[in-house]
Amino acid sequence: MKKKALLLALALAGSTSAHAQTTNQPEPAREVTNDTTPTEKNAVAAEINKLTIIESLQAIKKDPTTVKFHSAMCYDMAMPPAYTTFSCPTCGTETQYHTQSYQGEVANRVAYLSRSLGQIKAKTAVDFSDFCSKCSNDSDDQPELKFNASCIDCGQSFNWTANTIKELEQLPLLFTGFPVTEVDQGHIGEQKIAPEKLSEYLSNRLLCQACREKHGLK
Ligand SMILES: [Zn+2]
Ligand SMILES: [Zn+2]
Repeated sequence: MKKKALLLALALAGSTSAHAQTTNQPEPAREVTNDTTPTEKNAVAAEINKLTIIESLQAIKKDPTTVKFHSAMCYDMAMPPAYTTFSCPTCGTETQYHTQSYQGEVANRVAYLSRSLGQIKAKTAVDFSDFCSKCSNDSDDQPELKFNASCIDCGQSFNWTANTIKELEQLPLLFTGFPVTEVDQGHIGEQKIAPEKLSEYLSNRLLCQACREKHGLK
């Protein structure tokens, strides 16, 4: 209900300011649409966009069956080479990994992830440094693919990780548009995510903990 009221308020604010501005502009030839500054328009658009995302997450949480989950046939691919190369996006150093290891799976996704990050609704940065023999400072810790995101509601930054091959395979879930109507589960017989986990998965990567609680998306 609150969100509907806010949407209405935004719509009203838009119409009253447009009205006020037109009465202040006596020149009849002037186009009304030029009077709203792009920043005002962007702010309203961002607010509506945010509400669309939060409402969609709440709807999926309440009833995951509103989303169509589908899979595609899997075609056998040629045997991949045993080793793959991680090229560090920061320093350019190349590090070799077994193709069929977690590190190898990360190495093969560097370009794809860097290219796709902009599609995540929350502003998100990825940190590949654990996978670079130079940038990782020879740490013995288990490497982690780290992400830093800005909450779509309050802007607060928070971290999350993708530490298994399964989690790497789930990342494309974040590139879907809102409201979410369908999800590609990948190959038939596999499942990127259980439908009842989808809302939680997306919420945990788009909203900070406080905002998740505020919107009932814990
Ligand atoms: Zn590096
Ligand atoms: Zn927040």
